Amino acid sequence: MARIGLNMILFKHANDLALYLDKQRKSGLTIGFVPTMGALHEGHLSLVKQALATADIAVVSIFVNPTQFNDPADFEKYPVSTGQDIQLLEQAGTPILFLPAVSEIYPQGTDRINNYDIGRLETLLEGSFRPGHFQGVCQVVERLLRIVEPDVLVMGQKDYQQCMVISRLLQLMGWQERTRLLLGPTLREADGLAMSSRNRRLNPEERRQSTAIYQLLSGINKDIRPGNLQALKQHSSAWLVNKGFRVDYVEIASAADLSPVEDWDGKTPLVALVAAFLNQVRLIDNMLLDKTIR
Ligand code: AMP
Repeated sequence: MARIGLNMILFKHANDLALYLDKQRKSGLTIGFVPTMGALHEGHLSLVKQALATADIAVVSIFVNPTQFNDPADFEKYPVSTGQDIQLLEQAGTPILFLPAVSEIYPQGTDRINNYDIGRLETLLEGSFRPGHFQGVCQVVERLLRIVEPDVLVMGQKDYQQCMVISRLLQLMGWQERTRLLLGPTLREADGLAMSSRNRRLNPEERRQSTAIYQLLSGINKDIRPGNLQALKQHSSAWLVNKGFRVDYVEIASAADLSPVEDWDGKTPLVALVAAFLNQVRLIDNMLLDKTIR
């Protein structure tokens, strides 16, 4: 444990953090937790604010988890800005930061992957394009949850499918009663681009192009009508390709379980989801279609 600046307490070791949190818990304080991979932005900070609004103290972890990267180049290029992250967290009033080394999270090494039964989430959308990704996410989040034992876990709707996976993980761990999962809305730049650590890797030209994803999602929200959705999905995908993207998917799915919707009854709540590359940078975003939840 080390004190940085005026407020921040930094933990590098799981045992030290667990002991410290145990004391806080015994003195009656509730704990909110925001797991991140660093390179923090306003989106992350909004989750921290939500944690502090619902719990007495907030723990933020910064750990670039090697087991959730299916593409080694993506892992190597993942942005790191720990000094700046610490400053932002101090400003946001987060006194507790967990900054573990890989060996602290994976004392047995990174090969020992448990198998988490996450059902169709494993193979749908992100699961299909990033094989093994959600197993890595479950592995790190379970480890972090067992260290922090939070009352509230706050995650961003920006990673819609991940939120569903974590809800399932809590179920698999038998922790639904113990830890409440709260979802925070997606924070966007002024032109609509969803904030993301990966945005730092966009060059100025790619940054200009990137706003097309939000335009597309807003367009789908405006244009969608009950009936067959095939043409809308195909046009949407072709439109993004035309804007310079390599598209992994554009999908319109049930907001409840992410199963793709082909014929829409006009009532089932829907979410539109996109994953697409601008050169080497993969961007994801989604939007709940509000016509369906009016
Ligand atoms: P990451 O550091 O990208 O793994 O994200 C850590 C947490 O921040 C996850 O729960 C993300 O869903 C969430 N998050 C990422 N981007 C945003 C955003 N633009 N708005 C709100 N939350 C976000």
